[in-house]
Amino acid sequence: MTSGDPWKPFQDIINDQWQEARRFKESAAGVVIGHLAPDVPEEILHASGAFPVSIEGASSAVSMAQAHIPGYTCSHVMGTLDLGLSGKLDIIDALVIPYVCDSTRNLSHLWKRLFPDKPSELLRLPKRLEFEGARDYLITEYRRLYEWACGLTGNLPDTERLAESLKLYEKSRALLRRAFLKHRSSPDVWTVTLLRSLFVSASRSDRSKHLEWMKALPWDCPENTESDLAAVYLKGKVWDPPQLSGIMDELGMCLAEDETAAGHRAVMVEGVTNGDPFEALADRSLATIPYTGYHVEPTGLVNGFLERVKKSQASGVILLNPKFCEAAAFDTPDFVNALKNESIPNLVLETSARSFSVGQLKLRLEAFREMLGMEM
Ligand code: SF4
Repeated sequence: MTSGDPWKPFQDIINDQWQEARRFKESAAGVVIGHLAPDVPEEILHASGAFPVSIEGASSAVSMAQAHIPGYTCSHVMGTLDLGLSGKLDIIDALVIPYVCDSTRNLSHLWKRLFPDKPSELLRLPKRLEFEGARDYLITEYRRLYEWACGLTGNLPDTERLAESLKLYEKSRALLRRAFLKHRSSPDVWTVTLLRSLFVSASRSDRSKHLEWMKALPWDCPENTESDLAAVYLKGKVWDPPQLSGIMDELGMCLAEDETAAGHRAVMVEGVTNGDPFEALADRSLATIPYTGYHVEPTGLVNGFLERVKKSQASGVILLNPKFCEAAAFDTPDFVNALKNESIPNLVLETSARSFSVGQLKLRLEAFREMLGMEM
């Protein structure tokens, strides 16, 4: 890439994920708070004066964590623990773990014991989203998280400052939504890999800078309505392995939708920026497509998914399941049956950094691509 390449800032962060966190620490000597997917409101951490940075343990090689946690733990949790044990998370001062399953709760207990100098907080997301008290509960949790983060940075909680952070992040989300639309209309230029670089780097960057970088992208490139790429609906937790985007590009695929936890799913709901920011954050979270670890009435869950797939006009669906994720394993058969009943091609990929082969993954995707019946 040349220095004039507008995609370079995003690619740089993909290549060095702590680059911006390091800069923040060096310039402001501030607090860096890591957070795991899904659904940790970054604006709360930002408003506390901290630098929020997302951590994806899923694609890390595991060598030390198995001494502390059962081998049948998903790569997301196992990888995060290993990153901590191997010193690769030394840059972070604290960690927020969203409580979505037993593995995340176990990680929280282990983290406190193994890293007493790096405070952690378990964000207890409501499990029953349809419960009438879910909204008030979530608002209370968000207030608690804000007070905890401010306790680390030494700033006083300030609703006005949170409202400002909310505005900044909403602007960023709006541009990420536009980027997704651009990928759909010009997938040859705005490839899966480039689109992914925007989403991944957003949660590792100073968000104001990221917003400015995004403005310089080739928004006016022509639409390609004749594209013969196969549009795929992707559902899962994280893009694991990260090579997946490159393989999709190589095999002539694009995204009809990205329903992964921190993908397009995380930005697709337009939040409000007036009124109480805690309420606005809770409303946005409750309107977001429920993550697999939440409890939702099963028929509605499957029908909602099927409706979204049809609306996206995807040629097929990839279910990207982390190996040993009970929640995903529980939901997947119902999703697959529903897709089969509608004759929608689908592929379930169970991935894990511990038993992973790019070649094998590519082979399965090649076969799936052929099934979609379009020219490559
Ligand atoms: S929900 Fe699944 S992928 Fe996410 S942390 Fe739990 S076991 Fe791992």
